[in-house]
Formats: sequence, C-alpha cells, structure tokens
Amino acid sequence: MPDIIQLLPDSVANQIAAGEVVQRPASVVKELTENSIDAGSTDIQVIIRDGGKALIQIIDNGCGMSETDARLCLERHATSKIREANDLFAIKTMGFRGEALASIAAVAEVELKTCKPDDKVGTIIRISGSEVIEHEPTSCTVGTSICVKNLFFNIPARRKFLKSTSLELKHIITEFQRAALANPQISFSLHHNGANVYKLPAGSVKQRITHLMGKNLGKNLIDLKTDTSVISISGFIGRPESAKKTPGEQFFFINNRFMRNPYLHKAVVKAYEKLISPDTIPPYFIFLEADPATIDVNIHPTKTEIKFEDERLIWQILNASVREAMGKFAIVPSIDFDTEMVIDVPFFPKSAPVSPPEIEINPNYNPFDSDYSNQSLPKQSSSFHRPSARGWQELFQQEQGKGFEEKAEQQSPSLFNHTDKDLIVPNATERFFQFKNRYILTSVKSGLMMIDQKRAHERILYENYLQNITDGVASSQQELFPQTIELSAGDFTLLQSIINDLSALGVVVSFLGQNTIAVNALPASIKNTNPEQLINNFLQVFKENTGEQTDNPKHKLALSLARAASIPYNRSLEPIEMQDLVDKLFACQQPNLSPDGKPTITTIEVDELEKRFR
Ligand code: ADP
Ligand code: MG
Repeated sequence: MPDIIQLLPDSVANQIAAGEVVQRPASVVKELTENSIDAGSTDIQVIIRDGGKALIQIIDNGCGMSETDARLCLERHATSKIREANDLFAIKTMGFRGEALASIAAVAEVELKTCKPDDKVGTIIRISGSEVIEHEPTSCTVGTSICVKNLFFNIPARRKFLKSTSLELKHIITEFQRAALANPQISFSLHHNGANVYKLPAGSVKQRITHLMGKNLGKNLIDLKTDTSVISISGFIGRPESAKKTPGEQFFFINNRFMRNPYLHKAVVKAYEKLISPDTIPPYFIFLEADPATIDVNIHPTKTEIKFEDERLIWQILNASVREAMGKFAIVPSIDFDTEMVIDVPFFPKSAPVSPPEIEINPNYNPFDSDYSNQSLPKQSSSFHRPSARGWQELFQQEQGKGFEEKAEQQSPSLFNHTDKDLIVPNATERFFQFKNRYILTSVKSGLMMIDQKRAHERILYENYLQNITDGVASSQQELFPQTIELSAGDFTLLQSIINDLSALGVVVSFLGQNTIAVNALPASIKNTNPEQLINNFLQVFKENTGEQTDNPKHKLALSLARAASIPYNRSLEPIEMQDLVDKLFACQQPNLSPDGKPTITTIEVDELEKRFR
C-alpha cells in the first residue's frame, strides 16, 4: 500500500489555524488593535463597514515594519515578540503566537501598508487567501495600516454564519472597549459606516471610562487600590446605585490584558451583597497586576481566560479590597436588624385567670434566610392568627374545588393527574409556599412542584404582549412627556441600526445626538412601561442570542417588555398572588419554559423524595 501522509500546504494550515483565531470580525479587530498597541502606537483608528463583514481597517502610528518584516509578519509562527520557550513565562506584549496575521490573511483579502520612522519609503502588500498579489515600495505615513476586506470570502460555510450587522458591530464594540480601557494613554477612534461611534482622547482611566460609558457612570465611580505581594489591584467600581440588570460594564484586566474570570467576578459581586438587588450587576473596571510567572495566559486560544497560581487567595484580597473601597465612601451600612427584637414581657397579677397564650406567627420570617429583607415583611394579612379548627373547616369548604387544581386540570392535563381530588392542602394560603422570595412550592400528585416566580411571570406576560403586538402592530400611543435617555455610544449605535424593527412595532424614538434619545411613543397595547427600562431591556435582548427566534423582532420586543414588567425576585408574594400566577402560567401555551427558553417549573418526584429518606 502506498504511503498516505502528506504535509499540508501552508495556505491550508493557515486556514485551519484561522478557525481558532478568527471567529468573527471582532476577533480581527482584537488581534489588529493588540498588534498596534504592541507596536507602541499613541493613536489607533478603527474603521468598520457593515459590522466588519465588508471591511475592517486599523490605522496606527506605531513603530511600523521594514520591507522584509512586512512580508514575514504574514507567515505563520512569525513574531518579533518571543525568541525562545523561556520567554513564554515573562510575556509583556499582547501577542506572542505569531499566528494572527497569517490566519487573517488566509481567510480574507488583506492590504498592509507600513513604514518605519526612519525609512523614506514604506511597503504595501496585498494578499488574498494567503496568496501574495502585490508587494512593492510605496509612500505612506509612519506606522501601519491594515485593511481586511470580505472576511471568509473563501470559506462560504463560515461567511454564512456571520450574524447581523448590528450584532457583529456589538461584538466589535466590546473588543474595542476592552482595548480602549486597558490603554487610556492611547487615543482611539471607532467609525462604523462613516459614522463616528467613539472618539477617545488620551487621558486617565477615569476619563476613559466616562468617555466610553457615559457621564452618569463617570459620576458614580469609587476608587479601588490595594497593594499586596501577590497582586496589586487598582481601578474603579460603581456605586451600588449604578448597578444594572444587564451586563456590559464589567471588566477585569490582568497586566493590562482583558480577562474573563467568573470566579473573581463573584468576589466583587459578593462585596455588594445586600447593597444591590440580586438581579443586578455592579459596574467595575478592575486592573490586576501580578508577576507574569504566576499566571498562565495560554490556557485558551483567544486568551481571555487566565489561570492564577493561587486563585483563592486573590479572591479574598479582591473581595476585601472592594469592601474596603465602599467602606471608605461610607456606603456599607452598619449592621441593622430588619425585625424588631424587642420582646414585651406582659405583667400578670397573681390573681389573673390563666388562659392559653395566643401566638402570633409571621409565616414569612425565617432567621436563616439571607434574602429576608424589608421588602418581604408580611403585609397585614399574612401575619395571621392560627384559625380555630371550625374556621379552618369553613375555609376548606369555601375554597374546595376552586382554583388551582380544577383550572390546572382543564388547561394543562398532562402536568396534573385528573383523578387526584386530594391535593394535600385546601386553600391558597396553605397550598402555595414561597421559598427564598423566589420559588413557589406546591404539592402535586407526582411530587413537589417548584416554580420560578420571575420566569413564570415573564412567560405569562410574554404570551400576552406577543398577542397584543401581533394583533395591533404599529398602533402606538404618544407619550405626553417624551423621556430622554442617555445611552452608551455603543448602545446608541446599536439602537440606530435596529430602529426600523422597533418603530414597526410602535416604539418611536428620536435620536438627539450625543448618545441621547427621546422615547416619543410606545405601543398602545403596553401601558405603564418605564421607557428607559424597556429600551435597555430591548438592547440587552438584542445582544443575546435567544435561540431560533433570534431574528424575530416581535419576539424580542415582547421578551424585553416581559422582562421589564415581570415581578422581580426578592418580592414576597401573597398566597392569592401565587395562586393567580400559577393559574395563569398553566393557561399559557408553553408553561414549562420562560420566553428565553429556561425552565419555569421543576418537580421533585415522590419516588425521589422517598429515596432521599431511605
Ligand atoms: P504576534 O502579535 O503574536 O507576534 P501577529 O501575527 O499578530 O503575531 O504579528 C506578527 C508580527 O508582525 C508581530 O510580532 C510584529 O512584529 C509585526 N506586526 C504586526 N502588526 C504590527 C503593527 N501594527 N505595527 C508593527 N508591527 C506589527
Ligand atoms: Mg498579534
């Protein structure tokens, strides 16, 4: 049998490598800006067309390249940043693999123009799918300009998977923000389809955050500074009132490299516990400095996940640092007890007749429940006197047959057993139990059912809104006092690119410039919605990938509305409210899932419970 193994041609090897390095236009922006930063640039311009699908151009004023380097930089494993394996443990540059340019050149049409400060002429190279088309001297300014056109033009399968212009732009903005935050000493600009999205002058970290995220956040920043032998921490965290429901303002940098680190994220969020609502996230811009030998930047091909030698210790230091920063600003309240602990000891004269004590029970109070807060203090009726046996029977007769069990039977036969006439508890008060102000517990034939209150409510509202929107598309109601909202530059641009979808559904917005919009009208079918929350939710939903319905604007609008209007976690519910919620949930077409596809209900089967008691 003949030998069958061959070495792959470079162009193919590069295309394979590109699979790792270049996922989407934003990856190109990341790699090219990193190169410009490594080249010592003080000004970097990013120019984008059609979410980067048509064009990505990065122009810098860095050190440039010689003619030979310009040709070599497009080869795989060509780098000026490391020379031997040992260098890997002391990396100070953003790049070091020497793979990015070769990979990009393998899957796009690239034009590279570069000139070193002392050279009289520069070099221009055009390369398309790894094939050099032009390579000659040219006159150009000092620095490097790399223009990447028609990404994945030679891999249709990947080109097809690029998302909408606005979504790709959103990813680009994210990468741009990371680079810009880590390098406030460099001026940056970002243009999309001719419009200026960001123009960031060089300045301090705080100025950079303000330019990127808006003045509102800029005013709400708290300094963070801690130095230890293991790690030093600096940067800013947001005051508790700046916490938002949607992510997008959380940034960690390690040695000036953006990193994702869910574990350390918790260290920050935990420090805000009790100061912010649990469904919100505080903004933070945290810069960690550590000896490069104690971190491993190489565990992930795109290098955003980073491993520390002693992550638990860093968790502790970071958590303490954030708490200390807030303490300095007197944001952390002193311990206060929500429940009055004063006990009245009644005075009994010896001669007084003895009667059984009446006990007052607050059924919602659980001393071990950390979620217990003012919000969940029982309202009049739930602090109840235990009813006498006779009263209970009356209640039982009144309530029997009404409500949950019967309705559930009509509406969702599969979930409940028809023949089950003896649901264990007789009325709403005892049939539904709220746990952690988050879940509704109830007994069903097959076991113990748990319902996520927020998701359930989102499902109910979602179906409702979707119906309204479908029935009365574009019937919008003018706002008497149009509310103006300041957005981040990124969100402002994103909104501009999706406004057609929104106005078709009755949301009328005008763009006032300086990242400010006015909400002039909302769909008539949606009353009492807070326009700001709605717009923020809509942007959030737009940035998320919500499954197969992704491109249906009606779905997105209904989902954003449902999110804006649904009851939050940490809200205590009256039994009657729980009953109503559960009834309505089971009247939905899809009660089992939230509108973004997460489970609303889960049941612990009796068998499983029994097993646990064995
Ligand atoms: P890496 O950044 O990992 O070294 P790249 O493929 O991104 O690999 O770049 C290869 C080399 O090309 C770099 O090491 C650098 O010497 C050179 N280079 C790339 N972009 C620039 C730029 N904008 N200015 C100057 N030199 C650059
Ligand atoms: Mg690089």
